[in-house]
Amino acid sequence: MSISNQNLKFYNSLTSSKEIFKPINKSRIGMYVCGPTVYNTVHLGNCRTFISFDLIYRYLKHIGYDIRYVRNITDVGHLEENSDDDKILKRAKIENLEPMEVVQKYSNEFHEIMEKFSLVKPSIEPTASGHIPEQIEMIEEIISNGHAYEKNGSVYFDLNSFSNDFDYGKLSKRNLDDVINESRKLENVSDKKNPQDFALWKKAADKHIMKWNSPWSLGFPGWHLECSAMSRKYLGEKFDIHGGGIDLKFPHHDCEIAQCESTNKKNPANYWLHTNMLTLNGKKMSKSTNNFILPQEIFDGNNKFFEKSFSPNIVKFFMYQAHYRSQLDISNDALLASEKGFKKIEKAFFLIDDLKVSKSCDFNCDSWIDKCYQNLNDDINTPKLIANIFEIVKFIFEVKNDKMKIDKESKTKIKNSLSVFVEEILGLNFTKKSSVDLDVDLIELVKEIRNIERDKKNYELSDLIRDRLNSLGINIEDNK
Ligand code: AMP
Ligand code: ZN
Repeated sequence: MSISNQNLKFYNSLTSSKEIFKPINKSRIGMYVCGPTVYNTVHLGNCRTFISFDLIYRYLKHIGYDIRYVRNITDVGHLEENSDDDKILKRAKIENLEPMEVVQKYSNEFHEIMEKFSLVKPSIEPTASGHIPEQIEMIEEIISNGHAYEKNGSVYFDLNSFSNDFDYGKLSKRNLDDVINESRKLENVSDKKNPQDFALWKKAADKHIMKWNSPWSLGFPGWHLECSAMSRKYLGEKFDIHGGGIDLKFPHHDCEIAQCESTNKKNPANYWLHTNMLTLNGKKMSKSTNNFILPQEIFDGNNKFFEKSFSPNIVKFFMYQAHYRSQLDISNDALLASEKGFKKIEKAFFLIDDLKVSKSCDFNCDSWIDKCYQNLNDDINTPKLIANIFEIVKFIFEVKNDKMKIDKESKTKIKNSLSVFVEEILGLNFTKKSSVDLDVDLIELVKEIRNIERDKKNYELSDLIRDRLNSLGINIEDNK
C-alpha cells in the first residue's frame, strides 16, 4: 500500500487555501480542538465536529505521525450572549445542583456519547477550572505588554491598542472597523473602554458561585482565554493544528489569536481547520434555537423526525457522506440511505473470504488504493473516498455473480485495504450478523411477505403464516 504523508493537504482557514501539511516536528504533531461546554447534553451537531476531528486524528496517525491531541472541556466562564450569566451556573440553579455537579454530570454524558461513536480519546482533556493560575498568568502578560486594562476588578482586552501592533480578525477576515461596527449594535453595559473589547477576567457578583482569587478581584476568566492558556501549556507557543466548528472562527478563534500574539508574539497554530455545521430542516442545529437532536434519541429511535432507530455507526457513516467543510442536513431519508449503503459495504466485506479465486484479476487494486489515498490526502475528502469504496463493493458483487475474476493476491489486498479505510481510518465497525440478528431479519421478512399476501387478499396464505408464527411464539395480531 502506498502510504505517503508528503502529499497531505488541509484547507487552512487562515490563508483560505489548501496547503501541503508541513508539521513543525517531522513526526510529532500537536493538535488542539475546542471541546464542549458542559452545561447540558451535547447535540448531534456538536458530535459532527468531534467526529470530523477524530477522522483527522485517525488519518494523521495512520500515515505515521505521533500526535498529542488536546481537546478541552469548558466548565467555566462561558457566558450567555450579552449577559453576565454563566451557562453552567444557570443550569445548576435549574437542576438544583452544585455547578461542579453539573460539570461532572454532563462531562460523563459527553464521554459516554463519544465512546458510543468509537471516538479516540484525546491525549489530554484539560478543564478551564483546573487552569485558573495559567489563565491569570496570561492576563498579567497581556497587561504588561499594554494590550489589556483593568477596570473595577475586571480586565478587558484592548483591541485598539492591539491593532496598532497586530492585525486583528485575520481568521474571520474582519478588520477592526467591521468589529467596531458590529459591536456598536451591542449595549456597552460594562466598564469597557470600547464596546469591541472583550473580557479576560470578570469580577464576580456576590451571588456568583464559581469564582477565584486574582490580582484584580474575586472573579472568573473570560471564555476565549482558556484555550490560549491551555494550548500553550500542553502544546507550546506554536503548534500544528487548531480546530473547531466554523461558528467558533469569530470571535472565539480570532480572540485566541489576539491573546497569543500579545503574549507570545505568534499566531499559535500553523493550520486552522474548521468544520461546517450539521443542520436540521435546513437550519443550524443548536440548543439556543431549539433546533436540535440528541444522539441518544437517534440510537433509541425516540425522536419525532425519525421513523426508526439508527446505530452510532450509521450516524457516523451518514456524516462522512459530506465533506467536513460542507454543510450537512440530517433527515430520516438520509439516514435510511446511509444504513442501506453501509449494510451493502459490510455485506461485501464479509463476502470477500468466500470468493472463488482465478489466475487473473479484472480490477487494478493498486491504482484503486492510490485513488483512496489521493482523496484522503485532498483535505480528507470522505464523499470521494466513499465513492471509491462503492466501486470496490460493486466489483466484489460482480465476482460473486461470476461476472468478474479475482486472484488470490487481490483478494487479500482488497480485504485488508477495506478494513484499513473503513475500520481504521473512518472508525466504523463491521459486524458479522449473529444468528440472533439473522433470526430477527428473517421474522421481519416473513411478516413483510405475509402483509403483501394480505394486501392481495390472499387470506388463506396470510392466515397460515400468522398461525404458524403464533405457534412459534411470535405474536401477530391483525388490526380490524
Ligand atoms: P459548544 O459546546 O457550543 O462550545 O460546541 C462544541 C463544538 O461543537 C464547537 O466546536 C462548535 O463549533 C461545534 N458545533 C456547534 N454546533 C454545531 C453544529 N450544528 N454542527 C457542527 N458543529 C457544531
Ligand atoms: Zn476554544
